[in-house]
Amino acid sequence: MPIPIDERRKPAKVKVHVSTGAGIDIAWADGHASHYDFAYLREECPCAMCNDERMKKLAKGPQTAPVLNSPLLPMFKPKLTAKSAHAVGNYALQIDFNDGHTAGIFSFDLLRTICPCQDCAREHRTASD
Ligand SMILES: [Zn+2]
Ligand SMILES: [Zn+2]
Repeated sequence: MPIPIDERRKPAKVKVHVSTGAGIDIAWADGHASHYDFAYLREECPCAMCNDERMKKLAKGPQTAPVLNSPLLPMFKPKLTAKSAHAVGNYALQIDFNDGHTAGIFSFDLLRTICPCQDCAREHRTASD
């Protein structure tokens, strides 16, 4: 059964920049434009495993980052990007991240909700408070 989609949350144009690692650009039906870095999407991954990890982090309370004297971290982590991405039906994108994680299916509805632009970030925060 097709899921009814809020017309404004429909993407008019989706551009996935896998080869350049530039992230994803979406132009929405209501004229809004969003840009997502792959690293950001990896953090917001909605799969059960990542949800679980976020819950654990929340339960532990706010993290205090260790103060480092050197900007060089002992372990080199390659920049998080995507190996590939493809459409799931007409309602979502599945992203194959370069850290081996492939379970994340990002519905356009979710993508619109987590739009990192200032306007949406403000709305998102007020809504979840
Ligand atoms: Zn995940
Ligand atoms: Zn936005």
